[in-house]
Amino acid sequence: MDLLTKVRGIDILQVIRDLGYELHQHRKILCPFHAEKTPSLVLYPQNNSYYCFGCGRHGDVVNFYAGVTGQEYRTALHDLAGQYLPDYQPRPFPRTDGPAAPRKKPLLKPAGNELKGLPPDTKTYVYKPLHSDIYEDFQRVCSSQPDNEVGREAREYLLSRGFSDITLRQFRLFTVNEYDTAQAYLRNNYGLLDLQESGLFNEKGNLIFYRHPILIPYYRKGRIVYLQGRVIGSPPEKVSRYQFLSGVPVELFNADVLSVLKTGRMVYLTEGAFDCMTLVQEGIPAVSLGSATMFKKEWIKLFQRFEVCFIFDNDTAGQKAAQEFSELFTRHRISTQIRTVKEGFKDVNEYYTRRNRQ
Ligand SMILES: [Zn+2]
Repeated sequence: MDLLTKVRGIDILQVIRDLGYELHQHRKILCPFHAEKTPSLVLYPQNNSYYCFGCGRHGDVVNFYAGVTGQEYRTALHDLAGQYLPDYQPRPFPRTDGPAAPRKKPLLKPAGNELKGLPPDTKTYVYKPLHSDIYEDFQRVCSSQPDNEVGREAREYLLSRGFSDITLRQFRLFTVNEYDTAQAYLRNNYGLLDLQESGLFNEKGNLIFYRHPILIPYYRKGRIVYLQGRVIGSPPEKVSRYQFLSGVPVELFNADVLSVLKTGRMVYLTEGAFDCMTLVQEGIPAVSLGSATMFKKEWIKLFQRFEVCFIFDNDTAGQKAAQEFSELFTRHRISTQIRTVKEGFKDVNEYYTRRNRQ
């Protein structure tokens, strides 16, 4: 199979999700090629293509990716191959030999007047912190709530996990001390649909962090791009330890460290956010996956400048995941190591917390 055929076969829904677009009714998104308020770009997983009923733009997965990243078709093709095809061998783009360039078609129907001022050829894809305004407003409101029993218990719990006040401030963790007030504030200031799309509200129209008052913000370029809730202490029966945003893809935790770290340095990759915070508190640069089951292949390129050390949970699932991730990264020519915490400790956080107490 030639490269073009292989790349054209990369799941368009996956690529769309990895780019951070929200799917509506499982197959529609807001069209990035024209301004609109209701989604009219329809995805066709059957033949891996798309068609926008608003502006008429259509094509295959490569054409879509090229359009939103502002790249040539051929560049987009190799970019996608590098991200999604495990056996892809990157090489300098051939100028004379190599596969024939795909036929150039005009990317857009010429006369769509709604497209004026939005030429996709010059549009570059910038990371859009979609819901950051709402998340940050939510954080601001919660942080300004008076301290109470919830806040005190949460703080006590976090200290028991070995975190210093400095670390808690550095990662800007916050608590929902007064659930009702926070919920009412959001309802009064935002549309329900926006709140649901941001993942903060569920389908019933309620703030999702009812049982999970500890909020762990995920930052990217200094903006909050994701929020993870946690119960205080051990979860009661039928309650999960963590509450992830509903319907919003998770981000890397502490990813901003990757833009300041020197090339060639070792960066640690953990499963949980708390493990990552523990390492950072110990002076070790670390990033967390939030959860090992939610990994986007587009993240791999963020690690290309570094050596990566996986330090996952000390259980069968954790060790298996570390092995798989290590192989995946190795295929992308990133040098990796796997470390395990000492026998008898379940994860990094427990190890340091108990060690530092002795
Ligand atoms: Zn469109």
